[in-house]
Amino acid sequence: MSDTPLREALLDAARRMAADGLNRGASGNLSVRVAHGFLITPSGLDYDEMTPDDLVQMNLDGTWRGPRPPSSEWRFHRDILATHPELGAVVHTHSTFATTLACLSITVPAFHYMIAVAGGKDIRCAPYATFGTQRLSDHALAALQGRHACLLAHHGMIATGPTLKAAADLAYEVEALCEQYWRAYQLGTPPCLSDEEMDIVLEKFKDYRRRA
Ligand code: 13P
Ligand code: ZN
Repeated sequence: MSDTPLREALLDAARRMAADGLNRGASGNLSVRVAHGFLITPSGLDYDEMTPDDLVQMNLDGTWRGPRPPSSEWRFHRDILATHPELGAVVHTHSTFATTLACLSITVPAFHYMIAVAGGKDIRCAPYATFGTQRLSDHALAALQGRHACLLAHHGMIATGPTLKAAADLAYEVEALCEQYWRAYQLGTPPCLSDEEMDIVLEKFKDYRRRA
């Protein structure tokens, strides 16, 4: 079967995120699972210049096919998809508020109940490692343990989902939460919900937010 509709969906999602300011120029990258591997955005190409044919078909062993090289971050896309068979897509952004908190290595606590949308009681910030390295991928995977999203210190964020839409929607939600946390922080240290309250919220989310 042709992968053209999936290529178009990936490019649409990438362009929408760029138009909404979640990524600028060529920053960030997106991937979606296909049989035997995944499709990923190419490295260093502006989203408005990208065509469906520029998307790179990668195998889980890191080999690839296409007219352009894959995103420099293919390792964490590959490692997340390889170790989480339930996931279908990975989105990485340098969106302003997530990156602002990540530059301070802030793990976002349960200041708002919607933190549960990322799968737990906080959104962790992975330690810094150079972009495109296996070390960065290892840090990201650790920060994603039991979570659907994380921040990357001095870099940005990663959001995952069973579908491209779910991963992209989560990236928007995480960015909104980071903005709210940043704004609340201007007025003082935001108090957090208790572990017990977050347990209740996480339980309710099992019905409320079935990950589409
Ligand atoms: P690529 O253009 O290689 O995907 O890199 C962008 C980026 O966000 C690196 O972390
Ligand atoms: Zn990046």
